[in-house]
Amino acid sequence: MSSEKPIYLIAPTESGQRLAERLAALLPDARLWSAPLAELPTAWHSARQLVFLVAAGAVVRLIAPLLTHKATDPGVVVIDEAARFAISLSGGHQGGADALAEQISALLGATAVITNGSSHRALPAIDLLGKPYGWRPGRDSDWNRVAAALVAGKPVQLVQHHGLTLWQQALAQDHPFTETTTAAARVWIGAGIPDPSDLPTVRWHPRVLWLGVGCERGTSEQLLVDSIQQLLIEHQLAIEAVAGIATLDLKADEVGILALARHYDWPIKIFDAATLAACPVPHPSSIVAGCVGTPSVAEAAALTASGAGELTVEKRVFRAEGSGACTVAIATAQTEYNPEPGFLSLIGSGPGALDQLTPAAAAALAGVQVVIGYSLYIDLVRPLLKATQVIETSPITQEVARAERAIELARRGLSVAVVSSGDCGIYGMAGLVLERLAQSGWDGQSPRLEVLPGITALQAAAARVGAPLMHDFCAISLSDLMTPWEAIRKRLEAAAGADFVIALYNPRSQTRTRQIEEARAILLAHRPPETPVALVRAAFRADEQISLCTLADWPLAQVDMLTTVLIGNRATFRHGERLITPRGYPGADTDLPI
Ligand code: SAH
Repeated sequence: MSSEKPIYLIAPTESGQRLAERLAALLPDARLWSAPLAELPTAWHSARQLVFLVAAGAVVRLIAPLLTHKATDPGVVVIDEAARFAISLSGGHQGGADALAEQISALLGATAVITNGSSHRALPAIDLLGKPYGWRPGRDSDWNRVAAALVAGKPVQLVQHHGLTLWQQALAQDHPFTETTTAAARVWIGAGIPDPSDLPTVRWHPRVLWLGVGCERGTSEQLLVDSIQQLLIEHQLAIEAVAGIATLDLKADEVGILALARHYDWPIKIFDAATLAACPVPHPSSIVAGCVGTPSVAEAAALTASGAGELTVEKRVFRAEGSGACTVAIATAQTEYNPEPGFLSLIGSGPGALDQLTPAAAAALAGVQVVIGYSLYIDLVRPLLKATQVIETSPITQEVARAERAIELARRGLSVAVVSSGDCGIYGMAGLVLERLAQSGWDGQSPRLEVLPGITALQAAAARVGAPLMHDFCAISLSDLMTPWEAIRKRLEAAAGADFVIALYNPRSQTRTRQIEEARAILLAHRPPETPVALVRAAFRADEQISLCTLADWPLAQVDMLTTVLIGNRATFRHGERLITPRGYPGADTDLPI
């Protein structure tokens, strides 16, 4: 997701161009490619993905000479000019064409055409499995044979020693993974190197190993590389599973360590002597303590960086004539290091029916790895979700837990959607998530975050009964779970007195019945008894119910937690089954309450 290369939209025809312009406005990172088709190779080599708006046959001819390897080719998506289909033509997995076709379909209301073997079986694409978690693919992996076994539905042995097991939650009941060795292939996930097996095997290495490194001034990069490789091989650990290097702050400018980190793209965690001295280690050294102020650098740094209680490999000293000397220890973290910044998409799913959800929200839902929300709302958007996405539902009361879980997963580098009904920023999850992030010192960047609006209940309810919100209005939630009733009562008084049209959210539950009665009494003290009231229940859902009444004959018992109550201002009037609040304030000169 963090790739900097653009997506090019290529539309040789005029009608295709109009669609391309529409798409460019909807799709972040997408740009129109307007050069002649003869220059296609330039687009091919500089793009993450290419989207063609022309017949698929023509695209096949155009790209045929350019195709080299699925690991390096851009993904190719074709859209017909009527925007009915978004076809993932090539580079479905590693080129990201499958995901892009899904995203475009969600934006345009088209159907995604995905022909990869794993997508219809709710199986993860094996060559992408660990990517979202920052795992590194193991050398000597037999991707093709393992993928073939999975697609054929043959049993595949699964061994997972490290890393998030979240992906297993998304597997269908009849998934082919098994623990036994009597299988057609093997998927092996861990920090080590597995024993040889006759089964075709793919390896993924979650980055859990922290290398604690100390060295003499001027130790060569080569000695560091050789020492680390030797230690890893001796202990059957994969270099791909290394998360990073940990060392003492005195070594922050050590040329060999910096070069090593750059070479392998490893982060460096730096600790001061006091922090390292506080960490109990198997081999403290008073000589080291005398030199740098901590009895251990390598062991203490590995333990501190990983958060582990014990070392995986105790310290070893390596020395080479003329190259200096270094000490290396290894510890294994519980959770893998993931260089991705993580992403939170806070989504409002609208009142109910899917056609009331914005295309942007639909595209975001299709694009994330994890979707979190209250079960009822998740059920409403389920048709938009993909079988390989992880869905975490929870009961209605667990908002704080949901917010924390979303943040935890995003901090681990995942892209997570948090779904609220209506608008997520109106009595929804957006505030909760942002509050928690702010409390935990969020820098605004990592995880990245977007808030996508939705049609809130008051808009949905208003639309169902006409135009009651035409003049100044306000929303008041009658839930006193998190707000003292006295504060709610004062707001009701003020809004009633100021003649706002009022939308009541959370008006009445099975146990919370008194508030709505008090609210009505307050309104009656300020407005005529014939003031129109609309009770809109489950707007835009299958069980929608609407009733119109007045303040005087308002059937309170009919109101529940699925209802939004709209109360007109002094000018609101009823016409048949509609409520209309005039655009201006007729008669304002005579009898204004404010
Ligand atoms: N974030 C939501 C509001 C959540 S508070 C939004 O923006 O709409 C929950 C309250 O919203 C419910 O008690 C009810 O008063 C109202 N509500 C939510 N969906 C509704 C719907 N489809 N029809 C009527 N009221 C609804």
